[in-house]
Amino acid sequence: MSKQPMETSRPALTVLSEDERLFRDSVYEFADREIRPLVREMDEHARIPPALIDKLFGLGVMAIEIPEVHGGAGATFFHCVLAVEALSRVDPAVGVLVDVHNTLVINALTRWGSSEIQQRYLPRLASQAIGAYALSEAGAGSDAFAMTTRAVERDGGWALTGRKLWITNASEADVFILFANANPEAGYRGITAFLVERGFAGLSVGKKEDKLGIRASSTCELVLEECRVPRENVIGEVGKGYRTAIETLNEGRIGIGAQMIGLAQGALDHTIKYTQERRQFGKSLAEFQAVRHQIARAATELQAARLMVYEAARLRDAGCPFLTEAAMCKIFSSEVAERVTSLAVNLFGGNGFVKDYPVEKLFRDAKIGQIYEGTSNLQLETIARQVLEN
Ligand SMILES: Cc1cc2nc3c(=O)[nH]c(=O)nc-3n(C[C@H](O)[C@H](O)[C@H](O)COP(=O)(O)OP(=O)(O)OC[C@H]3O[C@@H](n4cnc5c(N)ncnc54)[C@H](O)[C@@H]3O)c2cc1C
Repeated sequence: MSKQPMETSRPALTVLSEDERLFRDSVYEFADREIRPLVREMDEHARIPPALIDKLFGLGVMAIEIPEVHGGAGATFFHCVLAVEALSRVDPAVGVLVDVHNTLVINALTRWGSSEIQQRYLPRLASQAIGAYALSEAGAGSDAFAMTTRAVERDGGWALTGRKLWITNASEADVFILFANANPEAGYRGITAFLVERGFAGLSVGKKEDKLGIRASSTCELVLEECRVPRENVIGEVGKGYRTAIETLNEGRIGIGAQMIGLAQGALDHTIKYTQERRQFGKSLAEFQAVRHQIARAATELQAARLMVYEAARLRDAGCPFLTEAAMCKIFSSEVAERVTSLAVNLFGGNGFVKDYPVEKLFRDAKIGQIYEGTSNLQLETIARQVLEN
């Protein structure tokens, strides 16, 4: 039977356009050349050097979805996913810096910011200012809308008081998308998103966390003492911040999926090379069937996770519903990352357990994927609601 030409051409999820492929490759080449030599030192000192951050701006990965008119690339969310994946293959701590900046901060501003806010802040975020996203508090993690940070109208603007916890990029950030409740009696319908600059009176960056993994990525407390925010720095509408939070995090989750598949790919790359070189019983480890099959299973799981992440991102770019796919890709890819990095440690033997080799770090880094931007239990709740109640 002769093959009929297909009426529509729908390439496979992993088939990249020329532009996507060139972009992904250039980010990975950058990561390999500029980041890889610094990974261990950054992990030990829990810090990303400012010179590397400058290079990330130069590379164009800090302004992926920012429209060209504001100095960005005007590219897609899928490009963000490719960048986070490629960076995380080398260092997931750098991956999350770029992820939060793009998929949460720039995303919130381009979707919800007034044109005046966009004109004022997007060019800065495209060229030199790092963004952070401040929702969580000590008593409001999974239950984020139980936040106690308050916003009170004062002198034609706002005064914000409270404490935010676990804020990624806080050490380096110039701009914070910060959530506070402007009308506690209305419950979550009082939550409002504000753009807070680092230099605003009343904002200080508090304790920096000493973490298990992604140690080079800063995670700090923010203290707001009557922090003065101009009226025009409200993002979206007063009382609608809950929507901004929900919708940006739904998208951000796909970015975490990208971080996890990049991380797992990095661990797999190291493991393949190591098992081909390391010899025991007169053979390379990669010649033993037990080892080959473990690596084959890891590669299979990783491919499944990648398909889920790419599908969620492409659905988002196509304007289709993607909530369930985003939750599924995050939970699955973070579990795959944990399994693949654990296997990597096993197959490196004793060398997997020491810092002279790269996989113990990736094993530590993988754990965060099941915690931030909604824990795995919360993702399962989202998925369960969809499959059981719709
Ligand atoms: C390194 C790092 C970076 C972070 N970056 C940011 C950031 O940039 N901005 C920001 O706003 N936040 C950030 N966070 C906060 C993160 O999103 C929260 O830690 C996360 O949402 C979980 O909240 P929690 O820590 O309060 O845990 P809890 O909410 O106390 O959860 C503890 C456990 O209880 C489970 N649980 C809670 N509620 C339920 C339920 N209803 N059903 C079943 N199980 C439940 C959870 O799944 C979890 O296993 C970061 C956290 C870390 C560790």
